Amino acid sequence: MTDQVLTVDITILGAGMAGASLVHLLAPARAAGLSVALVDRQPLSWNVDDAERPPSFDGRATALSWGTRQILEATSLWQNISDYACAIEHIQISDEGRFGQAQLHAGEQNTEALGYIIENSRLGQGLLAGLESADGLTVLSPCEVSQVQMNTDGALLQISDGRALQTRLLVMADGGRSPLMNQLGFQQEHKSYGTKALVTQVRCQQPHKHWAYERFSDDGPIAFLPLGTHDYAVVWTLQAEEIEETLSQDEATLIARLQDRIGYRVGKITAMGERLTYPLALIKASEQVRRSIVLLGNAAHSLHPVAGQGFNLTLRDAAVLAEHINCAALTGQNPGDLNVLEAYVKQQAKDQRNTIMASDALPRIFGSKLPGMAILRDAGLLGMAAAPVARRLFARHAMGLGHTAAKLG
Ligand SMILES: Cc1cc2nc3c(=O)[nH]c(=O)nc-3n(C[C@H](O)[C@H](O)[C@H](O)COP(=O)(O)OP(=O)(O)OC[C@H]3O[C@@H](n4cnc5c(N)ncnc54)[C@H](O)[C@@H]3O)c2cc1C
Repeated sequence: MTDQVLTVDITILGAGMAGASLVHLLAPARAAGLSVALVDRQPLSWNVDDAERPPSFDGRATALSWGTRQILEATSLWQNISDYACAIEHIQISDEGRFGQAQLHAGEQNTEALGYIIENSRLGQGLLAGLESADGLTVLSPCEVSQVQMNTDGALLQISDGRALQTRLLVMADGGRSPLMNQLGFQQEHKSYGTKALVTQVRCQQPHKHWAYERFSDDGPIAFLPLGTHDYAVVWTLQAEEIEETLSQDEATLIARLQDRIGYRVGKITAMGERLTYPLALIKASEQVRRSIVLLGNAAHSLHPVAGQGFNLTLRDAAVLAEHINCAALTGQNPGDLNVLEAYVKQQAKDQRNTIMASDALPRIFGSKLPGMAILRDAGLLGMAAAPVARRLFARHAMGLGHTAAKLG
């Protein structure tokens, strides 16, 4: 039984990385008078040491591209997180047990960094800071949405506390496993890689000097991403059937296995933090917009983390979506109109296609045991090492550049 119906122009369901970023990017629409609600089943404030945190802001670390920094700067969010973001100045990409190796350097690209690494808890605190008191925003949290019904005015959301929310536009930023999407009949293509990511942090005896390492082998990729001065966030891809045994091993055994995979380029590994695991799959929604509804973030696409592109792509999506909604707000158009949402999808289609294709191809090429693949990988890496143009193109992709930028503000 519904006690009360709240009415807003835009509802963002999910205050993870996708939803929280979009709220900030919609500041012009809010200033132009559109009301926005942000709903999440998790509380929006927590301490970085709390065991229970929203899924986006768990114990992982995220690689932010240079392009992401530019978007965060334009929304004044960069200043919330820059103290915790560790610059990547050099990247070494290598193939275990083979000659192929390439290096990328920020100096070659005329930027101070190729990207940044930040702990998700710090990123979350930066994205969520100040939202409870932001103008034109109603925060409903912790509040679970149990049902969505589309109607002539947009969408009606049932909230677990008995209230309902009528909205002209619903942004579904509720993650990759949304039962509400199924309820609404959105289909997802799901391709499992048969692997899992084991995520942890390690401390090394020698300082990282802002180097990141991406190392490939027949067993899959492993990434060491710099944090602090002597630490690395590690993303270690393992076959799904290896994961239980690996998790049961003690710290010394795991450190020895990691050291064996990465070698001594990072120095001696002396300690390891909490271990978290994630199944790896490419999940794509087969449609992203309908009248009054748009999917954002993992709800629209979840990528293999090997190239660290999931959130970076989502932020570019959010910036372009916000550009169209902000424009609709200024011209008095309904933000849920299908032509507003279709214009967003059309503008982002190429970026989404290219980024998804690249993050799907990398684990297949670099994780393949097929004869000849290792030689191809060597050729690719040696070619890149020798050719500044190839290096520049690869670096521009990794830096999140080379896409038509959204007009912010
Ligand atoms: C191992 C790993 C490493 C990664 N590394 C990188 C990287 O280096 N760089 C990068 O760019 N990307 C990376 N990513 C991708 C990045 O983590 C995702 O893009 C991002 O977390 C997606 O966030 P989201 O907001 O879409 O979804 P989620 O994090 O799932 O957030 C969804 C939110 O919706 C809320 N919610 C869901 N249903 C309801 C409901 N019914 N009612 C109320 N609230 C609800 C949840 O509480 C949650 O807060 C990585 C991913 C993995 C798995």
